[in-house]
Amino acid sequence: MTAAAPGIDDAVVVSVFRFPTPGPEADGTLEWNATTAVAVELTAGGERGFGWTYSSPAAGTVIDHDLAPLLRGRSPLDITGCRIALQRACRSIGTTSVVAHALSAVDIALWDLKARLLGTPLSALFGTARDATPVYGSGGFTNLPDSELTTQISQWLAAGCSAVKIKIGQDRGGAIERDLERLTLAAELTEGRCALMADANGAYTVGRARRVGRELDRRGVVWFEEPVTSDDPHGLERVRASVRCDVTAGEYICGPYDAAALIDVVDCLQLDVTRCGGYSGFLDCAALAAAHGRDVSAHCAPALHAPVTAAVPNLRNLEWFIDHARLEPLLVDGAPEVAGGLLPPHRPDTDCGHGMRLSESAEPYRTCPPTVAR
Ligand SMILES: [Mg+2]
Repeated sequence: MTAAAPGIDDAVVVSVFRFPTPGPEADGTLEWNATTAVAVELTAGGERGFGWTYSSPAAGTVIDHDLAPLLRGRSPLDITGCRIALQRACRSIGTTSVVAHALSAVDIALWDLKARLLGTPLSALFGTARDATPVYGSGGFTNLPDSELTTQISQWLAAGCSAVKIKIGQDRGGAIERDLERLTLAAELTEGRCALMADANGAYTVGRARRVGRELDRRGVVWFEEPVTSDDPHGLERVRASVRCDVTAGEYICGPYDAAALIDVVDCLQLDVTRCGGYSGFLDCAALAAAHGRDVSAHCAPALHAPVTAAVPNLRNLEWFIDHARLEPLLVDGAPEVAGGLLPPHRPDTDCGHGMRLSESAEPYRTCPPTVAR
């Protein structure tokens, strides 16, 4: 079948969008007021494959300059062959960070294109370990007043989430009393109704993280994400040894080597298809985690993750991040919707691919005319 497949057309279309947040948002180590999405469209045999990543616009430049020329004429059915060619071509500019984000967007577009050429939904290509993926509500920014934190958690409970996650580590870990006040509020709101998780985004030192971790245990928190920076596996290991709750990390993983560096120091490995090598990278890293007896959890980009999280046996949950839940219906048409705390792999009427298309509603957020690498 591969030999007869149509080659990828010359034009590779890259678009960059910037979606403002409703107001300033913050976690323990970063403040932001917008989210940038870099989208790529590939065509072959009259079909269009679509992928995207949340990254710097520089990821779009990498696709334009470094990846698109290598895709031209290749079979989109041979995703392995494409991956090898793209990875090898990026040796000298590096295959992590922004380049990994670019590679991820292209991988997703390739899978979408392949499924469309085969006339099948992506979930049929990946297989199904479950009918739908459990999502957890995520947001709870450190700069929210308590009233807004209460509203967010109430909305996630009403949506049927079995867990919710709030940010802690305010002021780079320098406002522990405030963190604990907010955790106490969240624990009161969720007690007996759903699990509570906390994300410090690497804000604490090891010592502070251990002390905060003991307070998390007292409040019944089940998940302590990035208590220290995930660049410090030994620090994660030291925190993990001192708390009852699960320690998790992995949202910046760019591929199996990164996953291998974290797998022994976390209880659940987080993976993001927009960073870890797309659907292919997600499946690779999830298999590595399974071999080490670890669950994986999908980080953000819920609609994009949905087809692949349904296929992974050791998948624990998917992050229904409030920024992306708001953004995805603007960026794409055809995004699946959460019902009863579950996200199906695609919309029921999806007959091929992931079922999503770039939406007209994204146009006001486009930062510049699309670039077409030829
Ligand atoms: Mg996180």
